Amino acid sequence: MVSERMKGLGTARSVIRELFEYGKIRAAEVGAENVYDFSLGNPSVPAPDAVNETAIRLLTEQPNLIHAYTSAQGAVDARERFAESLNRRFGTHYSASRLYVTVGAAASLCCVFHGLTCPGDEFIVFAPYFPEYNVFIEGAGAKMVLIPPEVESFQIDFDAFERSVNEHTKGVVINTPNNPSGVVYSRATLERLAAILTEKSRTYGHPIYLVSDEPYREIVYSGVEVPWVPSVYRDTILCYSFSKSLSLPGERIGYVLVPEDITDAEEVYAAVAGAGRSLGYVCAPSLFQQVASLCCDMTSDIKVYETNRNLLVSSLREMGYHVVEPNGAFYLFPRSLEPDDMAFSERAKQFDLLIVPGSGFGAPGHVRISYCVQTDMIRRALPKFQALADSYR
Ligand code: PLP
Repeated sequence: MVSERMKGLGTARSVIRELFEYGKIRAAEVGAENVYDFSLGNPSVPAPDAVNETAIRLLTEQPNLIHAYTSAQGAVDARERFAESLNRRFGTHYSASRLYVTVGAAASLCCVFHGLTCPGDEFIVFAPYFPEYNVFIEGAGAKMVLIPPEVESFQIDFDAFERSVNEHTKGVVINTPNNPSGVVYSRATLERLAAILTEKSRTYGHPIYLVSDEPYREIVYSGVEVPWVPSVYRDTILCYSFSKSLSLPGERIGYVLVPEDITDAEEVYAAVAGAGRSLGYVCAPSLFQQVASLCCDMTSDIKVYETNRNLLVSSLREMGYHVVEPNGAFYLFPRSLEPDDMAFSERAKQFDLLIVPGSGFGAPGHVRISYCVQTDMIRRALPKFQALADSYR
């Protein structure tokens, strides 16, 4: 006998993975250059040279130490560097003791959900959303409450949101810049959200925490502002990752920030650490705690993502696709050309375009295009997008 839930999670492949696997089979049939794979969110630009240089230097200078266990919550010097970087950039006053280093944003989120959840708790999530939230929240024993998308702007449908907050609401999850819409929540959106959360926390007599999932924080275009969320809403817990900004998804490194001024800060930090212990997430990889913390003021050369975004948005709009302007991350979330996004994604496969149906992100009638790919592939794919559009005329 095994856990049915875990068996289900272990055997059900995500739609994204299905498409990726299909792409490999198709590439063997028609040649890789004839398959246009926009399915995955793997950064296409390399990590900065300084990342590799730092790793090599540390391996040479500290061959034993660098492979050793660190404190469960992460090496203190690494946490100090992360805190100092935040303080420099956002005018804050965090110390190492507010940070818990994790194996990426996925682990950060799991630590926070597990750490906060009491029986009967709910977390509110806004569509479109990163589908793993469901797995992480339910895994922590809480219920995920999904707010339908506001499809004109992909900001927040506040009426639906207000109706969904209740005495069981433990937290609200946001992800800005967003996967899959690429939209960045405006300051006005965050302020309105904060005002509602403040009022509802008072009404229900307990804090409603805002869990801000920010792996794309630095990946923004056109000088758009990404407000520092804890400065807008006090009870914010932040989940960060270097997977995207430093192109290090395979190194599994990120952190949870529990600011000292949130309600019950000490208890929350202890619960996050306890969750890390219970999940076996203690002591994130030592080498990359050091490397990421020594390189945390840098990003990969992300200019090409903006080139890709501009090329795709303007070309797809000219072809008649409806696209909400994405100002961050490396995803585009246009409307599918028929209401059934699964059927649309299937039809796109006939043109060897691999694009992900929006239903899995809680936004049917849309598809996700990951443009963290070579610009040349986008150029070669444009006639295929045109042919796909023509096939509906
Ligand atoms: N949150 C969002 C919105 C993501 O898109 C991803 C990865 O794609 C994650 C969390 C998980 O990131 P990590 O690789 O740091 O675990």
